Amino acid sequence: MPRGMLKSRRLRRVFVKAPGGNTKLQYKERKPSKAVCAHCKKVLAGVPYATSAEMRNMPKTAKRPQRPYGGVLCSTCMRKVLQEKARSEK
Ligand SMILES: [Zn+2]
Repeated sequence: MPRGMLKSRRLRRVFVKAPGGNTKLQYKERKPSKAVCAHCKKVLAGVPYATSAEMRNMPKTAKRPQRPYGGVLCSTCMRKVLQEKARSEK
């Protein structure tokens, strides 16, 4: 009987083939939802879809695009926002 924390579905169950030929059950962290644009809700490109532990070991530059609103807005929405900003400054 597994431990109490393993009986809940917080962790996903992965069947792994052991070197001896038998399959073993491993418990792994679930992946979070994909990063989406704050305006159009499109899935963001250049933002990894990884668990928190994998994200922790990644350099900051690998976590989001290096541009204004990188990791928040998609490139089309960012362009629109910057154009609107430039127009309103005049
Ligand atoms: Zn967008």
